[in-house]
Amino acid sequence: MMMREATPEERRIFYKEEWNKREIPDFILHSLSLREFGFDLDGTGPSHRYNQFITVEQLENFMRNRAPYSAFASVALYERPSAREGWLKSELVLDIDAKDLPIRSCSCPPGKVCERCIDDARKVAMEFAETLSGDLDLHNIHFVYSGRGFHVRVTDESVMGLEQNERGQIVEYVTGGVVPTDITMALGYSKVFRERAARTFNALNEERLLGIRGLRKTVIQRLMCEKERALKAIRDGKLDEIFSFEGMSQKTFCSLLGFLARINSGFADGKVTIDTKRILRLPSSLHSGVSMKCTLVRDIEHFKLESAVPKFVRERNDEK
Ligand SMILES: [Zn+2]
Repeated sequence: MMMREATPEERRIFYKEEWNKREIPDFILHSLSLREFGFDLDGTGPSHRYNQFITVEQLENFMRNRAPYSAFASVALYERPSAREGWLKSELVLDIDAKDLPIRSCSCPPGKVCERCIDDARKVAMEFAETLSGDLDLHNIHFVYSGRGFHVRVTDESVMGLEQNERGQIVEYVTGGVVPTDITMALGYSKVFRERAARTFNALNEERLLGIRGLRKTVIQRLMCEKERALKAIRDGKLDEIFSFEGMSQKTFCSLLGFLARINSGFADGKVTIDTKRILRLPSSLHSGVSMKCTLVRDIEHFKLESAVPKFVRERNDEK
């Protein structure tokens, strides 16, 4: 699938004939008038900020008339959104961008995405959501296909009021972004970390592992030779198994875990999570950079990229 930029004419057709306000998710509609809207009107950046719409019809008029290059709404609710003042609360967001994934199963050049890495991002989003619900007892979890990846948006009241540092801790927990104090604990963060670390380790080749400071080549080769056994040892947190690898010392193991944690933390953009005044691409709107529809995903397990392809793209493909 060719993901090329939409022309101004294609944007106009999209907003005239295809865009539908009913595709704006309820969790945004219900608080529409409390959100700040931002727009990139011509592809030069989202500089048209501080917009407020009291009704969805006002937003509809704007979209149809201006056919913006990109449309965004704040994750925050404000008393005075048009001044970005009177912050009330914010959704908790995990941003998984396929182009920034530290490990991808495709061979896209940097900055590009394809169907395969978007599917990699989808799997990461599901994994994160499972931890959010299973470990952190959060249940109002919405998935949005953003054009180049996925947003996981949590609207449970218990997280809406959190401060930046608390949000930072959640993103570390969910991604497995820090080494736990005790790697062997059966449940909780220790278990999440081991799962993420094993997943990351499994996807790395010898060349990537050679980049770890403090790990000798011979140790890496041994780990790679018996990858299944090494994986199981990491996943189960069995220290005696881990240290049975020749040359694996406490220090070496720490270096390995630190390396895996750093890679893990790259699966979500932590800066987005801690920013309680962030604007995110509006579900229903067009991502003009890739000519795809940003959409709420009701069934993430069976999400198909075709469902986000706008009509004008299907028609331009037919013409060829
Ligand atoms: Zn790709």
